[in-house]
Amino acid sequence: MHLPDRSDTICALATAPGIGAIAVIRISGNKAFEVGSKIFQTKKGKSINFEEVKTHTIHFGNLMLDQELVDEILISIFKNPHSYTGEDTLEISCHGSTFLQQKILEEIQKKGIRLATAGEFTLRAFLNGKLDLTQAEAVGDLIAAEHASAHKTAIQQLRGGYQTAMRELRQQLMDFASLLELELDFAEEDVEFANREQLKLLIQGLLIEVNKLLNSFSTGNALKSGIPVVIAGKPNVGKSTLLNAFLNEEKAIVSDIAGTTRDVVEDQLIISGYRFRFIDTAGLRKTEDQIEKIGVERTYAQTEKASIILYLCDPGQSTPEEALNEIKALKIRMANEDATILTIVNKTDQYQDQLEDYKNLPNAILISAKEKINIEVIKERLLKIVQEQELAIEGQIVTNARHASSLKNAAEALQKVIAGINNNLSTDLLAFELKTSLYHLGEITGEIYTDDLLGNIFSRFCIGK
Ligand code: GDP
Repeated sequence: MHLPDRSDTICALATAPGIGAIAVIRISGNKAFEVGSKIFQTKKGKSINFEEVKTHTIHFGNLMLDQELVDEILISIFKNPHSYTGEDTLEISCHGSTFLQQKILEEIQKKGIRLATAGEFTLRAFLNGKLDLTQAEAVGDLIAAEHASAHKTAIQQLRGGYQTAMRELRQQLMDFASLLELELDFAEEDVEFANREQLKLLIQGLLIEVNKLLNSFSTGNALKSGIPVVIAGKPNVGKSTLLNAFLNEEKAIVSDIAGTTRDVVEDQLIISGYRFRFIDTAGLRKTEDQIEKIGVERTYAQTEKASIILYLCDPGQSTPEEALNEIKALKIRMANEDATILTIVNKTDQYQDQLEDYKNLPNAILISAKEKINIEVIKERLLKIVQEQELAIEGQIVTNARHASSLKNAAEALQKVIAGINNNLSTDLLAFELKTSLYHLGEITGEIYTDDLLGNIFSRFCIGK
């Protein structure tokens, strides 16, 4: 993949397309001020040379296209390197008609400025050293954040998150890598510049940090993308009814015939700033019906991914002992050992007199999905579980799958260096593993990158960012 030309001056609408009170058009690059000067006049009809004004100033006046007054605008000036992109940047705030937006963009393009590609302003900010790669990604996350916890993790990452600590540790590793290289230069003299024990200690420390970050990813990812909550239980226990009670809408099909919820239904709910992804599944029931069998397998597949499982039980269908056996079976199939199972005893409106023994099931909450009794109690428990998981993470949280993948690769390479030291591996092989770990750590912040990687990241941004 080729990255767009950086010597061009680029422009784009920075506000959302469509009618608005105002619209902002951003221009970045060395022609920004020249073109801005050509289209602007003060109220007294004077031109301004924006090359000569101070940075971070705003200018009110007329937008003149072909000597015709088109709008009254504000122009903001940011001089390189004191701008978002690190280049000369000019922002036009005009009235937000779609006609004006298009007209101005067309006129600017006629003057030799091209339309920016997706994320190109932020790409330039990265290439000009204004942001590292994790911060650039955080900008994308910040714009995409739809709820408080996604916003919080994005802002932490934008502020620098764990990158500073990583960079320092990487620097120390690099120093060792240079010493190993030096040893290779003096191979015939059999000298050891890099103290193996010290290197091992450094890597052990680094591995602790890397593993902490890696362990934070499942929670971090859930905080960003939504905490997966699986609603499991036999057919007809009221899973769809519960989901509907959560969502207050008729999304899942509620029916009296056992086994009708054959597929997986997913919907999302934001509770106190946290996004929960509720997944209703086909019943947990031994079945001969082929289609339903697939559904039941999917139930297990979903519970394997879940952070929280709401196991529903219907006192009319299962005795407390049977319910307990199903919970045990679920636990065995769960890939995520840290997932919490809440036992939701449903239909309490129908079985009021027979509930005593159900109260002792693990994490039992007695509800009626149909009558909407105690639904709030479930929501409060969900919230508490997530907040506890969040608090359990020491230090920074990784929310980005790319970072998690690089951390995993780095950890593997670092383990190999330690194994290599323990087995007296030759210096060149040791140096190779060390370089591999440095490569993966460098990928996170963008100290090492390829055009493909950047293309992949920035093409997901909006145009104008
Ligand atoms: P699913 O197969 O587990 O998704 O179960 P459904 O949500 O389709 O519910 C099966 C039946 O149980 C429907 O007739 C619901 O109206 C009924 N039901 C669900 N929740 C309750 C409840 O709290 N009390 C009573 N009495 N019936 C319920």
